[in-house]
Amino acid sequence: MDSNEFRKQAHLMVDWMADYMEQVEDYPVKSQVAPRTIYDQISSDIPKQGQNMDPIFNDFKEIIIPGITHWQNPNFFAYFQANTSPPSILAEMLTATLGIQGMKWETSPAATELEERMMEWLGDGIGIPKQWAGVIQDSASMATLSAILTARERLSKYQINEEGFEGYTKLRVYCSDQTHSSIEKGAKIAGVGKSNVIKIPTNEHLEMRTDLLQQQIESDIKQGYQPLCIVVALGTTGTMAMDPLEEIGMLAEKHNIWLHVDAAYAGAAFLLPEYQSLMKGIEKADSFVFNPHKWLFTNFDCTAYFVKDKKGLLNTFSILPEYLKTASDELVNNYCDWGIPLGRRFRSLKLWFVMRHYGLEGLQKMLRLHIELAKWLEAELKKKPTFEMVVPRSMNLICFRYMPAGVEDQEELNTINEQLLQRLNATGELYLTHTKIDGKYTLRMSIGQTNVAKSHVEKAWETIQKVAEEITRNGKI
Ligand code: PLP
Repeated sequence: MDSNEFRKQAHLMVDWMADYMEQVEDYPVKSQVAPRTIYDQISSDIPKQGQNMDPIFNDFKEIIIPGITHWQNPNFFAYFQANTSPPSILAEMLTATLGIQGMKWETSPAATELEERMMEWLGDGIGIPKQWAGVIQDSASMATLSAILTARERLSKYQINEEGFEGYTKLRVYCSDQTHSSIEKGAKIAGVGKSNVIKIPTNEHLEMRTDLLQQQIESDIKQGYQPLCIVVALGTTGTMAMDPLEEIGMLAEKHNIWLHVDAAYAGAAFLLPEYQSLMKGIEKADSFVFNPHKWLFTNFDCTAYFVKDKKGLLNTFSILPEYLKTASDELVNNYCDWGIPLGRRFRSLKLWFVMRHYGLEGLQKMLRLHIELAKWLEAELKKKPTFEMVVPRSMNLICFRYMPAGVEDQEELNTINEQLLQRLNATGELYLTHTKIDGKYTLRMSIGQTNVAKSHVEKAWETIQKVAEEITRNGKI
């Protein structure tokens, strides 16, 4: 493709992109296709001859778009958002055009140095201690795995050596019974068996119980186990519960256990001074992760990972074969030594564009709006005796269920709420997901899409009530 053709196609696609952003609400939020619909439309062989872009782009619109769930639709209330924003998209276009691979400082000094600055901006913004260092990773799962591996490397007896994983069944990782599956996955990959990921029970707010954690650690030590790492969740996936960081930090300090903080979604809200108190005790932690690609308007993927001691990361991940040696190795950060992959995308550019375009005040305004919208919905839900807030609102997450009059049986309520979720999502007008709290099938509504406004939440609430009533009309599901 020559540059004239590229220019022509790029303009066409940018027009399509701008139209898409304007019209995204016209698409069903959740893709409505049946399994294999897309697969069956894609030819089984690599095309023998090359094609020009017109039929390719046409197939993108005809075949691919129906199989897309529109995460950027403001009526997307499912999971946690993976937000984007115009400045982030523009940066990604430039990143793709430059096509650099920023594994070492020398392979693009700007990528490394912009990343250093962006991690300082973010760290200062959310209250990470000044002496810590930050690095961008792809996902929170990868950052948590890095934390567990670094914690293991710190225990000299358990450093990975020629004997491999021998003796690792004695290591133990602690998290609450609400924490994300990535902790279990990370521990498994790090050689700590699943049975050694100890899930500590939670209190009525679904926060980890420090007293039970303490008992568990003390009893494990007595039995010859080696506590490896505690994972504190600031914002659990199910209900956005906040584990008590400071209390757990004191325990970790006392026993010299690595303390990792998983604030994958909620971390963005620590840019708000009114939520900074949740970070109290952060100085006792060893590592912290949050995803700007969730609630900070920066395209997936972009994960901010901070560590107290960067030497620990380097000891764990640094390998310097001859072909990677450069003259500047002693003078600069080479981020390929700060994590698992060698190759690295230029992710700091989109963070720079986003933070400059909105500014701290603009970002705070968007986050506060989302929290205000959640407060509004919480108040509406509380006015209706046929709905229950299953747990109190945390930040912008609402967990609720429908409780039609006269139905008390738990299983029946669960079936009704499961039906409600399926029917709501089948309307294409909004997309919610669920969790189970104390056996109660609970609908989760995360109000945090970049462009969500009061009108979207009002309309969603109307639809929820309407569909709920339809389900139980005539007393039948
Ligand atoms: N931790 C928490 C609390 C999460 O909610 C999630 C995903 O929603 C993750 C970790 C995993 O995030 P990632 O997809 O970046 O690995």
